[in-house]
Amino acid sequence: MLDHVDLLIEGGQLVTEEGVFAADVAVDEGRIAAVGPALGEKVRPQRLWHAKGFHLLPGIIDTHVHCNEPGREHWEGFETAARSLAAGGVTTFFDMPLNSEPTVSLAALQRKRARLAGYQLEQTVLQWGGLVPDHLDDLYLMYDAGVVGFKAFLCESGLPEYPPVDDFTLLEGMCRIAALDGLLALHAEDGPMVEVLSRRIRDSGATDVAAYCAARPVAAEVAAVAKASAYALATGCRLHLLHLSSGSAVAAAQWAKQRGADISIETCPHYLALCQKDFEELGSIAKCAPPLRPQEEVQALWEAIRQGEIDTVASDHSPAPPELKARDDLFEAWGGISGAQTTLAVLLEEGYWRRGIPLSTIVRLTSANPARRFGLFPRKGSLLPGSDADLVVVNLELPFTLRENDLLYRHKQSPFLGRTFRGTVLATVAGGRLLYAHDGARGAMGEVSDAERGIDGP
Ligand SMILES: [Zn+2]
Repeated sequence: MLDHVDLLIEGGQLVTEEGVFAADVAVDEGRIAAVGPALGEKVRPQRLWHAKGFHLLPGIIDTHVHCNEPGREHWEGFETAARSLAAGGVTTFFDMPLNSEPTVSLAALQRKRARLAGYQLEQTVLQWGGLVPDHLDDLYLMYDAGVVGFKAFLCESGLPEYPPVDDFTLLEGMCRIAALDGLLALHAEDGPMVEVLSRRIRDSGATDVAAYCAARPVAAEVAAVAKASAYALATGCRLHLLHLSSGSAVAAAQWAKQRGADISIETCPHYLALCQKDFEELGSIAKCAPPLRPQEEVQALWEAIRQGEIDTVASDHSPAPPELKARDDLFEAWGGISGAQTTLAVLLEEGYWRRGIPLSTIVRLTSANPARRFGLFPRKGSLLPGSDADLVVVNLELPFTLRENDLLYRHKQSPFLGRTFRGTVLATVAGGRLLYAHDGARGAMGEVSDAERGIDGP
């Protein structure tokens, strides 16, 4: 007697944080029902996909996305963000508390969720709350409503409605978040240092890439990381350092970590794949904060990945309309990179192919670690029986060159346009449902099934 399942994916290589092994995966009612050899002899699938020669990864968890809705939906919006993330293999994402209407109160969180509910997205979408001055009493209410953590800035965010924290707000906020066993995520650049340097450099008339980078030096990031890490040690607050751009900043967190501070570290694909020289060539499209760094800092980030000192890689997709990006004055251009769709592609090309980073490490950075850090494991970040059927089918050998038309987010901008990546997402499945299928999947993965029910096949 064969058990019925919704979907059987046969013959693929499974990638988990432990390693790579050949196995079939059976999916039923949105979950992984079984993993093992020759499942075709044991189950009767509604649909069958052939994955021979392909790799199956747990769906990517992008913990850092700016959907900008409600408030700046003309910059992005949930629907376009979700669509592009799906094409990049993302099945779970966390929406940042800006550049939407700031998510700094329960009411704002509820407005955001009401808007999100209207789209009925298949992905799992969770929200960050904000820690800003004068909203300390909102922390508990947002925590109780299920935010994944709170985000604060140690420097100007670029938006007046989302001010940085002063030392009192930061310390008091961390004490309160620690009492909740919550988590603080920090944009770590030293505000006063950036402000003073920016003013002096701008007064001199310089507005180019070198000037912008000089105004936000590695030292500003190191100073902020050192301070925040010490605060984490003092308060016991769980700290998540966002988008660290330099190996030096990763190193600056180690002192407090070695003494027991609970700190996790995020970096982003652009800090791993691009350096300051690329920024000089690409111009404002590659502007972000902290800025892209000299090559030796990029290399040190990769070394930190090898050493296990970096926990997560997230896109920090921070889009804006082209007219806000295309400015000659680098201080004026919007400081955010659009990258919702390319996290996995960058890690496969720059990490796996170019530097020999194991696939299991890539899975750890993009799904297992974030799932653990944010309490979603093993429902997410895993391919164990019982886990949500969130997975990505990848053809590692199939290259693609990123074109504007490939980008599914609202404003088709990327510092990676024209780049060729080895490793193509063939299909993205969330909760057992197909979110995205590459044109090349249809023939390659076959389409054998006796009926269609619930699941759309590639
Ligand atoms: Zn961000």
